[in-house]
Amino acid sequence: MSRVAVIGAGYVGLTTASCLADLGNEVVAVDIDVARIKQLRRYRLPIYEPGLQEMLERNMRAGRLSFTTCYSDALAGADYAFIAVATPEGEGGEADLSAVRAAARSVAESMTGQLIIINKSTVPIGTADLVSEVVRQHTSLPFEVVSNPEFLREGAAVSDFMHPDRVVIGASDPAAAAAVARLYEPLDCPVLITSVYSAELIKYASNAFLATRISFINEIARIAERVDADVRVVAEGMGLDRRIGSHFLDAGLGYGGSCFPKDVKALAATAEKFGYHPELLHAVMEINEDQRGVVVEKLRECLGTLRGQVIGLLGLSFKPNTDDLREAPSLEIANALQAKGATVRAYDPAAMARAKVIAPQIRYRRDAYGVARGADAVVLVTEWNEFRHLDLIKLRRVMRRPIIIDGRNIYDPQKMRELGFVYRGIGRN
Ligand code: NAD
Repeated sequence: MSRVAVIGAGYVGLTTASCLADLGNEVVAVDIDVARIKQLRRYRLPIYEPGLQEMLERNMRAGRLSFTTCYSDALAGADYAFIAVATPEGEGGEADLSAVRAAARSVAESMTGQLIIINKSTVPIGTADLVSEVVRQHTSLPFEVVSNPEFLREGAAVSDFMHPDRVVIGASDPAAAAAVARLYEPLDCPVLITSVYSAELIKYASNAFLATRISFINEIARIAERVDADVRVVAEGMGLDRRIGSHFLDAGLGYGGSCFPKDVKALAATAEKFGYHPELLHAVMEINEDQRGVVVEKLRECLGTLRGQVIGLLGLSFKPNTDDLREAPSLEIANALQAKGATVRAYDPAAMARAKVIAPQIRYRRDAYGVARGADAVVLVTEWNEFRHLDLIKLRRVMRRPIIIDGRNIYDPQKMRELGFVYRGIGRN
């Protein structure tokens, strides 16, 4: 059993803390957000993440997991400190490291003995050096800084943490690397130990590669529409090739969320800083930005003008099984439609509470049928499972005009036409 401090109780911090506690460690998570910690102490998860609530509660009741706003409480006697604070997009596309810097300083000021500090946040190459520098300025106690990027997906965070494809550990000190590897030993997964810089780059390269696949298939979708092919079938045919594989080849509204957009930008910014112009990354970002406009363009083709039209959005979160709205295509689409004079309504199974705060101009409904009632068109934005099982006859009946834009290609075009819909998918007309 080790004593672990986790800095930041967001999607990554909460998952890391709960899972490490579940593996038998004594974990204290610290966050500067007082309301969040209050909520957690009452066993209330501040985010939507399947399976996390049960795990959190189980470990809190067992006395292995606790939450605090006080760094000294979290760091007292700790062997490890995971930094899992946010690294949002900063100026010029570079990652904003102010939370990482602040966390490093607070850790240094509160640590009580030898400590391994682990960068779990996604941070630019060289950040372990920066954290070392900050910590050194504020303590004379011995420490090592190790890079251990996180690859979990929101919506599947617990299972991704517990069954990772790999754990990457970047360290200049082999003993520190081995100590971090020990924490993951019960998971029985491949562990790649490498230099700090390689570990930091592995995270960005992985996200940039996945984003590239998405932009690639979205480009193929645009070609497919022009040559009368179906991008879903094209992707299936490509994916059967083992050299290619089928993952991340779903044409749609482009990537969003708290990671891909900022990470691709940050990697491009790093490349530029080191004197290299990353042409492919720029193309990936450009295709992704244009992809949001595809829906608006399809609606305009079907409806003529958008002024005065009522458009319903099914789904708001950037992907299913999360309430995360960071860089969600839904919000950009809603803004674009409203700017053209349309009224926008929406329903999401998990993200409405958050959405109401950041997008009060959207009219929220209690379910998909409420969104469709009297609408001139409905756009499927997020492929939540419940939208796959709608009563489509009922949906069509309540709409003013039976137009559906399937932004994730989840419906069968032929069946939709048989049901009387004007159907437009992405890359399959
Ligand atoms: P988040 O915004 O959900 O959580 C960050 C938390 O850190 C917040 O609760 C915030 O209050 C807290 N915080 C900020 N400054 C602090 C400080 N000085 N001390 C203590 N707490 C502080 O962020 P997230 O989505 O969990 O992402 C965290 C990091 O992990 C980012 O670098 C992100 O890129 C990376 N990451 C995220 C995911 C994901 O799917 N969300 C996956 C892999 C990696």
